[in-house]
Amino acid sequence: MLTENELQLTADVLVIGGGPAAAWAAWAAASQGVKVIIADKGFLGTSGAAAASGNGVMAPSPENWDKVASERYRAGKDLANLRWIERVIEKTWLSLPLVEKWGYRFPKENGESVRQSYYGPEYMRVMRKNLLRSGVQILDQSPALELLLAEDGSVAGARGIQRQYRRFYTVRAGAVVLANGGCAFLSKALGCNTNTGDGMLMAVEAGGELSSMEASNHYAISTAFNATVTRGVPFGWASYTDEAGNELGGYINGRRDPAFLPNALMKGSVYARLDRATPEVKAVIEKSHFIAFLPYKKASIDPYTERVPVTLILEGTVRGTGGIRIIDDSCATKVPGLYAAGDAASREFLAGLASGGGGPNAAWAISTGQWAGEGAAKFAKGLGARPNERIARASGQMGMGSARHSSTSDTFDHEAIVRGVQAQMFPLEKNYLRSEQKLLDSLAKLETLWQQAQGHPKQDNVRDIEFSRRAAALTAVARWAYFSALHRTETRSEHIRVDYPHTDPNQRYYQATGGLDKLWVRRDWITDAPVTSPLQTTPSTPAISKL
Ligand SMILES: Cc1cc2nc3c(=O)[nH]c(=O)nc-3n(C[C@H](O)[C@H](O)[C@H](O)COP(=O)(O)OP(=O)(O)OC[C@H]3O[C@@H](n4cnc5c(N)ncnc54)[C@H](O)[C@@H]3O)c2cc1C
Repeated sequence: MLTENELQLTADVLVIGGGPAAAWAAWAAASQGVKVIIADKGFLGTSGAAAASGNGVMAPSPENWDKVASERYRAGKDLANLRWIERVIEKTWLSLPLVEKWGYRFPKENGESVRQSYYGPEYMRVMRKNLLRSGVQILDQSPALELLLAEDGSVAGARGIQRQYRRFYTVRAGAVVLANGGCAFLSKALGCNTNTGDGMLMAVEAGGELSSMEASNHYAISTAFNATVTRGVPFGWASYTDEAGNELGGYINGRRDPAFLPNALMKGSVYARLDRATPEVKAVIEKSHFIAFLPYKKASIDPYTERVPVTLILEGTVRGTGGIRIIDDSCATKVPGLYAAGDAASREFLAGLASGGGGPNAAWAISTGQWAGEGAAKFAKGLGARPNERIARASGQMGMGSARHSSTSDTFDHEAIVRGVQAQMFPLEKNYLRSEQKLLDSLAKLETLWQQAQGHPKQDNVRDIEFSRRAAALTAVARWAYFSALHRTETRSEHIRVDYPHTDPNQRYYQATGGLDKLWVRRDWITDAPVTSPLQTTPSTPAISKL
């Protein structure tokens, strides 16, 4: 049962999330001298994709900025934006020394700090400590459910639940940053189960737009047993075999072929043995990716001599690209006073429709977090006296109970809805190799789930309240993803259409999407001429020091 006493708080800036993007946003806002509250679904410091393991960060030293920027631009296949790539690189490079000042110890080489990656739990512990030092109020175990809107349509705060106190909370705020991560559809990918796309639903209900949702299908390799740890690096030294032990290849010119595994898995079981790793490589990967070796340790398997079944786990928009559309350099969204950062925001400027994993996404979280936090603080300051006395209404609709958006008196089972969404989103046959017919078929099934989610959810306890809203968010994100995928009639980066197998140079646009019952897409053409950057070559196997 819920207690009656709802927590009521006020702030200048409310940040929703608890990963790197949220932590940087809250710190940047607090640095502008405003009052900041941060609300995390989990415990800030341990929740989200970064806290669970760690990230390589795109933070080259200045002499390499041009090279790295042009490589990233090329990877974005004419959809990335060079100016944004450059500003992310610069901001990240300038920011990492701050983390060191706050107490994080980067490894040293010849006496110099090497700030190219971080160990997630330690990084987030340092970030949490810094937030407390900066006067930021942290609400742990407090998933936000919906945004509050003022009469003029600007954002005025948010409402959520505090699990441990079994009560609702409301934070009235002059501006809000959505930094709640991406959406991995509860696939159990490491660190991603708090990432259920809640912010996308909140943003659209409040009048915001999404972008590049067709790039929401990133899959990552894992052992098929204890299948959660999606760390791909060690598998770069695997040889792959089928059930009968026949060699399957998997490499082109010594490089891992990204299309190999999904295609092989659609034909049958695939096994991997890390027998291409030299003793030197073994020593480095076991140290830098020790978490990837936990499944083997648990099962008492020697991955270098024994072959193990592997699978692909959906990480969705976490290492995909789609998210809330940002409309200017401060990471503002279309809703006045609402900002987006990290994986909650679309990363198309940085990655086009390709994955931003492996460095860019971590840099994006650091840089957009700060821009969004600063932008939100400035917006809140500009509201003048007593912004928190504005008349405000809650904007949540789907899965909220109390018949906010209900067209039926039926009750709905949030677990059945989640299973239904997963049945459309997980299979490689549907989400990796897309076609018009398969997308239409999935959209029809998702539409049925959407109708069901308009019923009355059970609302007996905090779990029911959180999970019914979560089921609505997952259904909404799945519909936006497939609706966008249906409308982009080409193959580009992670968006593969078997019925349109080529990249179409005439489809150089970002696809905006949104809508609740009635979905829409819009093409926003990129009018700048493509940048013809100098050709950069990437080594076929990463240098061992970079693992
Ligand atoms: C296995 C793996 C390896 C990766 N490796 C790399 C890499 O090497 N380099 C790289 O650049 N990127 C990498 N990534 C991606 C990178 O981890 C993310 O881009 C980064 O964590 C994004 O930070 P974030 O703060 O936006 O999201 P997250 O770190 O996911 O944090 C999201 C936070 O929001 C909270 N939240 C969610 N919903 C709500 C809600 N309703 N209310 C309140 N809080 C909410 C969550 O609890 C969580 O604290 C990897 C991802 C995975 C899964």
